[in-house]
Parts: sequence; structure tokens; C-alpha cells
Amino acid sequence: MGAARDAAVTPDPPPVGDLSKAQYDGWACCWCGSSLLSVKAVPAGVSRGSSGVHVLDIEVWACPGCAVAPQCRTEEGSPAARAGRIRGT
Ligand SMILES: [Zn+2]
Repeated sequence: MGAARDAAVTPDPPPVGDLSKAQYDGWACCWCGSSLLSVKAVPAGVSRGSSGVHVLDIEVWACPGCAVAPQCRTEEGSPAARAGRIRGT
């Protein structure tokens, strides 16, 4: 189970079978499904899937709200926290 450590660092995106076409094509957030056409998409990792012998793994994207990396969840690194701080001072 060597993947356990990676999973703790970056949550795995949903499997390919759970993605809509827009999510699979990279137009929509792989987690919440919101459109990425008007926001800054963030790489969300690789969604795993297969159909018979065909590997369907594909890189998927997330909206900024869903793609907060663990190392950014501190007050210092969170864009939301920064925005709040700027607004509050
Ligand atoms: Zn999202």
C-alpha cells in the first residue's frame, strides 16, 4: 500500500467512471462539477479508469475552491484567508 502516503498529500480525484463528459474533458471541476471556463483551473491529479484493456486515466482539473492543497490550508497560504485579511485591515 505505497499509495497511502500520496493519498494523504493529495486527495485522489474521482474515478473516470464518475466523471461527466465536461469533467473528463477538463471543462468542469472534477469534484463539484462547476464550470472552469471562467475561473483559474487547478490541476487535480489523475482520474483512474479503464474499459476492458483500455486505460482511460486522464488528468483532471478542479476549481480553486475545491483544489486547496493541504500545504495551503494554513492561514498563511489560503487565498481565502489572505483575501479576508486584506479586507479586514
Ligand atoms: Zn470545485
